[in-house]
Amino acid sequence: MKNTHYDVVVIGAGPAGLLAAGKAAMEGARVLVLEKMEKPARKLRITGKGRCNITNLKPLDEFLAEIKPEPRFLRDAFSEFFSNDIIELIESQGVGVVIERGQRVFPSSGKAWDVAEALIRWAKEQGVTIVCHATVTAINLTNNAISSVAYKANGEHLVQCGSVVLATGGKSYPATGSTGEGFLLAEKCGHKISPLRPTLVSLETSPVHSKASGLLLKNVNLSVLVGGKKMSQEFGELEIMPYGLSGAIVLRVSREVVCFLDEGRDVELEIDLKPALSHEKIDNRLLREIEENSRMGMIDLARKLLPKQLAEIMLDELGIAFQKIVSRASSDDRKLIRLWLKGKRFRVTGYRSWNEAIATAGGLLLKEVDPRTMESKLVKGLYFAGEVLDLDGATGGFNLQIAYSTGWLAGKSAAAAR
Ligand SMILES: Cc1cc2nc3c(=O)[nH]c(=O)nc-3n(C[C@H](O)[C@H](O)[C@H](O)COP(=O)(O)OP(=O)(O)OC[C@H]3O[C@@H](n4cnc5c(N)ncnc54)[C@H](O)[C@@H]3O)c2cc1C
Repeated sequence: MKNTHYDVVVIGAGPAGLLAAGKAAMEGARVLVLEKMEKPARKLRITGKGRCNITNLKPLDEFLAEIKPEPRFLRDAFSEFFSNDIIELIESQGVGVVIERGQRVFPSSGKAWDVAEALIRWAKEQGVTIVCHATVTAINLTNNAISSVAYKANGEHLVQCGSVVLATGGKSYPATGSTGEGFLLAEKCGHKISPLRPTLVSLETSPVHSKASGLLLKNVNLSVLVGGKKMSQEFGELEIMPYGLSGAIVLRVSREVVCFLDEGRDVELEIDLKPALSHEKIDNRLLREIEENSRMGMIDLARKLLPKQLAEIMLDELGIAFQKIVSRASSDDRKLIRLWLKGKRFRVTGYRSWNEAIATAGGLLLKEVDPRTMESKLVKGLYFAGEVLDLDGATGGFNLQIAYSTGWLAGKSAAAAR
């Protein structure tokens, strides 16, 4: 490589790194992005099941409520660059967007790939140089300020620079390049990392209902119980998996459940499959069905309330014979069914691995980073952006917006510090 001096070196070409690099170059800095994978933005290309939930149009306060553990940290970053700004940027690259349920924004082509290519094109148009197959191995300091970055790409290289933006992502889906090396690089610069845990992750349970695996249940209520005490509740979609439970509401509670499990606490999930119906209404419905067709078997009655696989599982668990004639059903049978439908419990035995988690909870300690600039409070010229920070959002486009906004602010600040 000819030029071995840059104003700003960005480590990682994910959404945070690309936004940081593009903004720094827009402000006149000479910018190099080092990306260890064969192409930039590998993870971005698989987001939103390949459709990329680009961002979310919720107003600021509602948006912040979706972010943990310290949403206020993002106020400056969001006031610099927010959801409308990323939409404008992506549209300026010829990629239109559509808005779906829950204010979620997707590319109108339905292709995450288009979003990735738009960000890369935009960054290059600002004058950014991107080098792939380049793994950063060290950030070198002189007198507690950035001096150079060492990386491997067909041999060892050293690039002198005034600033570094560390945008190496978290630890989830390591096959995309996010293997957590950035945390080690930051630690070597003196930074502390809060415990790293998979989040937005499916849960392993006992019992498992593998017979119903793949079944998607809409409009159900899920409560998290710790030591029998209700901690939180979510309403929406649940998916039955061969190992346990997944789906939007499980992912939403996964952050707290993973924490409880790591603390060694007993966690249960209680599912209300009929949240719109009271116990009394369910009983009346059962009595009505029985009256209308008194010769049918209990399995036929259960099928009127549940998909086939679940109807069978319920009767098996309750010890009620499928072919028992409904007119012989006792009030105890009806009570058991009601309780099962309104409060089926699963013990949570574990959570899926980093390979399946959508995001990383924990990361670079926020109190060591200046939220007005994203600069390290310990090392001059070192900036952070994206999932490497101890910030994570719910599903719905929040995590990508954190990446763009912190990237933009870090790039702007790094360029201004030249
Ligand atoms: C399956 C899946 C679906 C998702 N869907 C959505 C969604 O629809 N909407 C949403 O908002 N969020 C979604 N997310 C989360 C979102 O993708 C991440 O939060 C986001 O990509 C984080 O951006 P980042 O730039 O901080 O890190 P990353 O995208 O992880 O990028 C970091 C980059 O740094 C590179 N790197 C790491 N170490 C080095 C090194 N030593 N040297 C050089 N390069 C290095 C990596 O190769 C990687 O390219 C999803 C995540 C997954 C896994």
